[in-house]
Amino acid sequence: MLKTWRFHGGLRLPAHKNLSAHRPIVNAELPKQLIYPLQQRPGVQLKATVAPGDTVLRGQIIADSDHFLATPLHAASSGTVKSIEDRIIPHPSGLSDPCIIIDTDGRDEALPPEPVEDYRLEPAATLRAKIRQAGIVGLGGAAFPTSIKLNPGPQRHIDTLILNGAECEPYITCDNVLMQAEPDAIVQGALILMHALQVGDGIIAVEDHMTEAFQALSAAIEQSRDRRLTVVKIPALYPTGGEKQLIRVVTGKETPSGGIPADVGVICQNVGTAAAVYNAICRGLPLTERVVTVTGQGVKQQQNMRARIGTPISDLINQCGGYQDSVERLIMGGPMMGFALPEDDIPIVKATNCILAAAGSEVATSKETRPCIRCGDCAKACPVDLLPQQLYWHSRAGNLEKCKEFSLFDCIECGCCEVVCPSQIPLVQYYRAAKSKTIAKAKEAEKAAIAKRRHDFLLERKAREQAERAERSRRKKEALAKLKAAETATEGAE
Ligand code: SF4
Ligand code: SF4
Repeated sequence: MLKTWRFHGGLRLPAHKNLSAHRPIVNAELPKQLIYPLQQRPGVQLKATVAPGDTVLRGQIIADSDHFLATPLHAASSGTVKSIEDRIIPHPSGLSDPCIIIDTDGRDEALPPEPVEDYRLEPAATLRAKIRQAGIVGLGGAAFPTSIKLNPGPQRHIDTLILNGAECEPYITCDNVLMQAEPDAIVQGALILMHALQVGDGIIAVEDHMTEAFQALSAAIEQSRDRRLTVVKIPALYPTGGEKQLIRVVTGKETPSGGIPADVGVICQNVGTAAAVYNAICRGLPLTERVVTVTGQGVKQQQNMRARIGTPISDLINQCGGYQDSVERLIMGGPMMGFALPEDDIPIVKATNCILAAAGSEVATSKETRPCIRCGDCAKACPVDLLPQQLYWHSRAGNLEKCKEFSLFDCIECGCCEVVCPSQIPLVQYYRAAKSKTIAKAKEAEKAAIAKRRHDFLLERKAREQAERAERSRRKKEALAKLKAAETATEGAE
């Protein structure tokens, strides 16, 4: 049995997973309309490659960008582009942004798939290009482009791939049911990722209560006859699924502050991402659907649904029997790291692992915040070993330099500090605001530096042009003087 380690802090939270974990995945109906926000991640805006009136097929690219963090977006069914218009997007801001709207035609016609015959014969660069072209991003919620993670650069030596099946947030069970339903796709996807990374060790980590998933994956590994891959059970402790915490638990390695997993020779991928990689490489299918947990006491039937990316949340809720009277808040993601949605006419995107229709008893409503009593409970709970109390004081005071000193950007916004805080201070809100301000300030500084460089360049060009003009004029005068002298000499000779 593989040895496991512990990380600092963390919490045992009520799981609430039985609501959806033991039901088979239900295929969601094809929606009448698909909605695709062009903003893939903050700061990454795709450009539409289709226009209103165009007909599209399932699997056709409808938006892309040459931004290095962008991956193409594919239509999830056939139909006609109705419009490109502003709609509320799934983002904590609750703001509107341009979206491609497709009216589906019910025929669900697709482009012919283009599978790779034998991935083991393909170089890593070809596999990365195909994975990018298939629009694959991390399906655990972060939506980071998979092809970029697979290219850590020549200065980093990667020896281990970890597949993250530790679904540590309460309520979310989409990875658990996927591991039970499609273990072969996950195992084959892991082997493709290992080939692309040229690593010798692959570990699939599942939480210790996921018995069925563990057995299904073990059988799939056995069938693959590949001894490089193992499945390991790890303790269910929130947030074990955080990359750095998972690496610590599985390998004992500490990812340095400000560093990434590749710095310690590890690449983490979500189990759903591995299945998507298998589908892209071996079946030639781009990413157009995913499994979403629809749960919470506020919805009648809690279940996992395989839904087309772009499906409005209201469609999924209707297929789950609709809301119960008790619904208090609609959340995308889990109760710890998810965010509240202002309405349900918002689509699911590649990052959507869960829709939580929370009843009043399931969410903390108006909390009465009291002053910090310096108890230190937050520091004991922090899985990153930060000092949340200090971060709170400095972010509250707007002292961004101090926040940086206390490693604000290592905070994974897990909310453990907030859960244990006896004064009920909304700590994560303060950290998010301080991070946004720091990023905005850095952007301003970058803009100012660019403006200064442009200004200096203009001054330099002006000075150069002036010098060139002066030189031309000097040469002209010199030539004229020479000409005049020659004429005078000729006249004298006559
Ligand atoms: S847990 Fe709350 S009250 Fe205690 S030190 Fe941290 S911020 Fe202050
Ligand atoms: S939200 Fe940040 S500061 Fe608070 S416990 Fe999590 S990582 Fe630590």
